[in-house]
Amino acid sequence: MFAQRLAQISESATMRVAAEAEKLRRAGHNVVDFSVGEPDFPTPDHIKAAAKVALDKDLTRYTAVAGIPELREAICARYKADYGISITSAEVLATFGGKQALYNAALALMNPGDEVITHAPYWPTIPEQVKLVEATPVIVQTHWQDSFAVHAEKIIAAITPKTTAIILNSPSNPTGALIDEPAVAAIADAAAQRGIWIIVDLCYEHLIYEDIPHNLPKVLFDRHRDRTVLACSASKAYAMTGWRTGWTIAPAGVTKVFNTIQGQTTSNITSIAQHALVAALSGSQEPVAAMRDEFRRRRDSIHSWLTANPGIQCVKPKGAFYLFPNISGVLTDAVPSSLKFAEQLLEKEHVVVTPGEAFEAPGYLRISYATSMERLREGADRMLRFAESLQPAKASAS
Ligand code: PMP
Repeated sequence: MFAQRLAQISESATMRVAAEAEKLRRAGHNVVDFSVGEPDFPTPDHIKAAAKVALDKDLTRYTAVAGIPELREAICARYKADYGISITSAEVLATFGGKQALYNAALALMNPGDEVITHAPYWPTIPEQVKLVEATPVIVQTHWQDSFAVHAEKIIAAITPKTTAIILNSPSNPTGALIDEPAVAAIADAAAQRGIWIIVDLCYEHLIYEDIPHNLPKVLFDRHRDRTVLACSASKAYAMTGWRTGWTIAPAGVTKVFNTIQGQTTSNITSIAQHALVAALSGSQEPVAAMRDEFRRRRDSIHSWLTANPGIQCVKPKGAFYLFPNISGVLTDAVPSSLKFAEQLLEKEHVVVTPGEAFEAPGYLRISYATSMERLREGADRMLRFAESLQPAKASAS
């Protein structure tokens, strides 16, 4: 009945958990939600003010597909300031969030039957989009014992003659891990030799909590600029998830193809949102720093609370706003998987978490700390109580 390409596409597993949580909420329960993938902060005032001005000036018509000139210039200026890279407006196109940025890249660069390498645990949209264009995702696993590091050798070993692209995500959803600069350099060199595209999902680029060099745009531009696509987003850095604002940075010839694709599908992103995005990118970056500081405090707190249970093993993530603990140490015959753990935690303690199964990582949970400190404390207490209830014998012995 539907197109064959949909046969392999999965519905978002996170949506199922969200639907269950909503049911409990409607029934009047006090639900703690650790599944949200968006900042709990409002969009900063100066960004909202720019949108109001645009509306009052009746800037409500179609714009160029790639975005208004001042937006593309603001993107160029932001990347010059943040990374020291020089780009022109011809290399920039505004998209409906990072999601459309990645999808334009998939449509433009992948053919049916191509292999596209990415790393797991992953944000599910990455492989699902690859499948939507009938290419094949090739998954390189990373491991918590190793802080979910992406090793260049493993990515390079996965390359075959059919490989056309490598998709990297750093900081990562769901692990919060960063890919380090030397690894990206080695991957870029190998890709350059073979003419393979590198697509980097930089959605969480401003949410990095440690002082670690992470200038991936520069590393890639120095080595492999003609085949690099950066997929970026204002959603998380500026608390703008609902505005649907993202962009690509790619060679002018590639950007032209994105322009054609977008011109035949959605056209320009919302004119009002474009003006808001100009303010976000060229205005004060102070709100970004303030949100980042608060996320860091929350990360440190929830990490220390949950790891008080020795069965919950968790790397302290360096970026994004998720903890990704391995909970195999608290699973039992009655609750043998992270999926079961998440279901029962919701049923018994009304805490919503996303099971690792959603990210091809059974045995883990994704816990978003994009919620207030008070809710984090409450949710952590309930999780610890639930984990302990599974192992009364162990708990009383210790
Ligand atoms: N990349 C990653 C890794 C994400 O987690 C998300 C949002 N959850 C996105 C891209 C896309 O976000 P948006 O479309 O809101 O920019």
